[in-house]
Amino acid sequence: MSDEEKSRSNPTAYARSALQMMEKKGIPPKPNNFAVWYRYFSGAYPELSRTLDVILEAGLPFTEERNAEIYDRFLGVTLDEDFLNDATLRVETELKKLMHYLEEAGTDAQTYGDTLSVVSGELAADDERKDIRAVLETVIAATRTMEERNRVLESRLKDSANEIRDLKEDVESLRHEAMTDALTGVANRKLFDEEIRVGAAEAMDLGTPLTLLMIDIDHFKSFNDTHGHQVGDQVLRFVARIMKSCVRGEDLTARYGGEEFAIVLPNTTLVNGAKVGEHVRLQVSKKAVINRATGKSLGTITVSVGAAEFQPGESVESLIERADEALYLAKHNGRNRVELATARAKKAPGAQPAHT
Ligand code: GH3
Ligand code: MG
Ligand code: MG
Repeated sequence: MSDEEKSRSNPTAYARSALQMMEKKGIPPKPNNFAVWYRYFSGAYPELSRTLDVILEAGLPFTEERNAEIYDRFLGVTLDEDFLNDATLRVETELKKLMHYLEEAGTDAQTYGDTLSVVSGELAADDERKDIRAVLETVIAATRTMEERNRVLESRLKDSANEIRDLKEDVESLRHEAMTDALTGVANRKLFDEEIRVGAAEAMDLGTPLTLLMIDIDHFKSFNDTHGHQVGDQVLRFVARIMKSCVRGEDLTARYGGEEFAIVLPNTTLVNGAKVGEHVRLQVSKKAVINRATGKSLGTITVSVGAAEFQPGESVESLIERADEALYLAKHNGRNRVELATARAKKAPGAQPAHT
């Protein structure tokens, strides 16, 4: 069996052990930490396991620095998304199977108990057959024992089911965390890349419009230089909060990079998308930024917005590029404004369509 196969042989147990260990040692349930402990139990990385054994035996605390160092050393600096998705999928499949068995076992036990009760009831009602009273009593006693056992079994099964549900929730929240920008709580770049592709494909298939907004904070460098990076981080959270309050459920708000955000607006034309951008711009510019530490107002900040509507047949890269060009235009035209991207000229008849 290869290492890879070994590491996949019992993902449910590894995931459960990893989460239990993390809880016991007070290790935050973050994707990277989970990746480390999952592999500890899977044994796929002997060196990682040895290192962790040494730390465990020495009773050293798992501080944030130590967790990060272990992850970086053995699993690299970027989160292994494929691994997480793979493990999650496998755990889910196993859970579904197990829940199915649990349900079947529960139903069988119930049916058996009910049948015995009916039989014993019928026998008890038959007054003529006093000669089999002894047998009847034995059956009734057996039924009671059986039912009691069923009850115990069912309650154990229920406990297991609850434990599995908790595990599934933990995995779900890890998956969510892996797609979320830790600073602002909006979608991260990875989720954005996925969603814009899905959105563009859907817009193509259904012939619906889709608009992309690129939003960049104005003069953010000087804001950071004046007030410090931590206050800068507060501003990023502030802008993210306002963006979220301006969009609908099916829209996706994401942190595209540093101080640049993106909003994907399915079923939205350029004109309507620009209205959303204008709403965000206005809300940001209206509210004063308050320094949480001092309670002092730091004045207002502004954002510039570029909007582009997906053109059927264009690549996602081209859509992003056009939204970026519109954003650049907004900066060039004085910032704190929304600019709309122009459509790319259609290819001449007979030319190859652009690939998506
Ligand atoms: P413009 O109006 O042209 O966008 O000017 P700008 O100063 O906002 O643009 P520039 O790209 O020169 O600077 C972006 C700054 O954003 C640089 C960096 O200090 C800041 N920044 C990027 N990411 C973060 C972050 O995570 N936290 C904080 N506090 N600042 C960040
Ligand atoms: Mg900027
Ligand atoms: Mg920028």
